[in-house]
Amino acid sequence: MEVIVNSKIAVVTGGSRGIGRCIALRLSKEAKVIITYIKRGEAAEETIKEIHKKGGEAWAYQFDVSSFKQTQDFFKKIIAKFGRVDYLINNAGIARDGLILRMKEEAWDEVLAVNLKGTFNCIKAVAGTMIRQGYGRIVNISSVVAFIGNIGQVNYASSKAGIVGLTKAAAREFAAKGITVNAVAPGFIETEMTTKIPDKIKEQILSQIPLGRFGKPEDVAEVVAFLASDRARYITGQVIHVNGGMYM
Ligand code: NDP
Repeated sequence: MEVIVNSKIAVVTGGSRGIGRCIALRLSKEAKVIITYIKRGEAAEETIKEIHKKGGEAWAYQFDVSSFKQTQDFFKKIIAKFGRVDYLINNAGIARDGLILRMKEEAWDEVLAVNLKGTFNCIKAVAGTMIRQGYGRIVNISSVVAFIGNIGQVNYASSKAGIVGLTKAAAREFAAKGITVNAVAPGFIETEMTTKIPDKIKEQILSQIPLGRFGKPEDVAEVVAFLASDRARYITGQVIHVNGGMYM
């Protein structure tokens, strides 16, 4: 098997669309990028094509981050091929909204499994490699709702608040090994996830954003790229808020 070396290697989970696609495109300026997806193979191919068009290198892999076994198998495969992983961006995430009184048990379990356990699964699967390298940058995607709550999102807000605790504990555990672990907490960003919000609610949200607009995936990607870079080498265990001032 061909082993690819001499370049930074980035893994972006959920890189097929939305914020993940934008992060993958941004990181492809300085790294070879491996994106992952669960169902939308065509969207993943689109991301790869865009990266190639801009002169970067990228590969797409399909697996479910909520499955411990699939996550282990994926990282074994890519570490055998690429030799190392420098940046892990835990971006894959879902929402299954509903008021507590109506929320089904599966909606709670599924969101916690993908968003929180999925982040743990990926960190666990890559930790040994990053420790051996003596180098790694892990960026987890949380959310503003972890800090301010949101009606109809107890499952999602809990998963994203869990990511904050996970980030800080992992940052302490890995600090002596040359690995930083940080989180980015976006506010409301224009992606498929937010197109589902009814217009009336969108207007209400907008009135709470001092900068007067929803964020763009690029606004998040730029901060992720900074945290992954050596310019952020003395930053670990932090949450960077990217929300137009919605939460200060
Ligand atoms: P999208 O719904 O646009 O994209 C979600 C991505 O996650 C897709 O690539 C999807 O793959 C992948 N994915 C979903 N489930 C799984 C799974 N089980 N295993 C592997 N991959 C999976 O989301 P956004 O771009 O809007 O959000 C990206 C991240 O940012 C999420 O963690 C989200 O919670 C967070 N966030 C988003 C905000 C927003 O306003 N949009 C605000 C705050 C945080 P596929 O294409 O195959 O379905």
